[in-house]
Amino acid sequence: MSEINVVVAGASGKMGSEALRMIKKHAELNLVACIDMKHTGKKVNEVEGLPNFEAKFYNDIDLCLTEVNADVLVDLTSPKVGFKHTKAAIVHGVRPVVGTTGFTPEELDELTALAKEKEVGAVIAPNFAMGAVLMMQFSKLAAKYFPDIEIIEKHHDQKLDAPSGTAVKTAELIQENRQSKAQGHPEEQETITGARGANVDGMRIHSVRLPGLVAHQEVIFAGPGENLKIQHDSFHRESFMSGIKFAIDHVINMKELVYGLEHLMLD
Ligand code: NAP
Repeated sequence: MSEINVVVAGASGKMGSEALRMIKKHAELNLVACIDMKHTGKKVNEVEGLPNFEAKFYNDIDLCLTEVNADVLVDLTSPKVGFKHTKAAIVHGVRPVVGTTGFTPEELDELTALAKEKEVGAVIAPNFAMGAVLMMQFSKLAAKYFPDIEIIEKHHDQKLDAPSGTAVKTAELIQENRQSKAQGHPEEQETITGARGANVDGMRIHSVRLPGLVAHQEVIFAGPGENLKIQHDSFHRESFMSGIKFAIDHVINMKELVYGLEHLMLD
């Protein structure tokens, strides 16, 4: 396989630094630059805790993509910055692989149209853990037979968006098969606001934020006299890296934006 030149945005963060360790394990991936706010001008190997790469840190995506020859941008930052980075990458003809969560539907539409116009491949996935992708697909199937559903997602307490991108995506997939239904008692009242969670067409999503957690989701389906639980746990951020590698390998040959790893895994 020929070499793929990769830029990682958010490289000193929890996910980004894991992406650097993944790149180190694959000889065909070549780290050409990193982006963050703190380490501009430094080499990666000058930053404590990061693997031994000669690539330099930038804080300006346009300058970075002008100066280095990149094939793929891996973005693991925050929603506002990630949107700006993804847009800039497409304009520069660099294929984005985006794990950053929290983009609005309007932002996703804008990026989809831009990628199509520029014929640049892009992958945006709210969850790069392959087991989580399967959990979402199994949930979609189960929703056909069990319309009473509660989603409980649990993440570390530094997460900025709630509900998680995975929970939102799961709810969207479920809605493709679930008939609209208000769950619970028709006269149910919350004595403390939020007790019943977010309401998506009558189905409920609950977000738990606690230190020590990584990314966990349980989807509970109920029918008369029975319960089905579909659960996925990411115990370590390494769980997202095989999906990111999978997306990098695919995006090289793509000419449009794909939202959700399932479109690459199950097609
Ligand atoms: P994190 O540890 O806070 O890292 C965020 C990184 O973004 C840091 O390196 C930070 O750099 C950088 N950053 C922030 N503002 C920036 C800016 N204006 N310009 C350039 N870089 C900037 O967060 P994390 O836990 O790694 O999560 C990162 C993203 O991945 C989040 O959106 C999270 O929800 C998502 N995520 C996705 C998946 C998935 O499978 N899709 C799984 C887990 C997490 P500084 O430290 O220099 O500010």
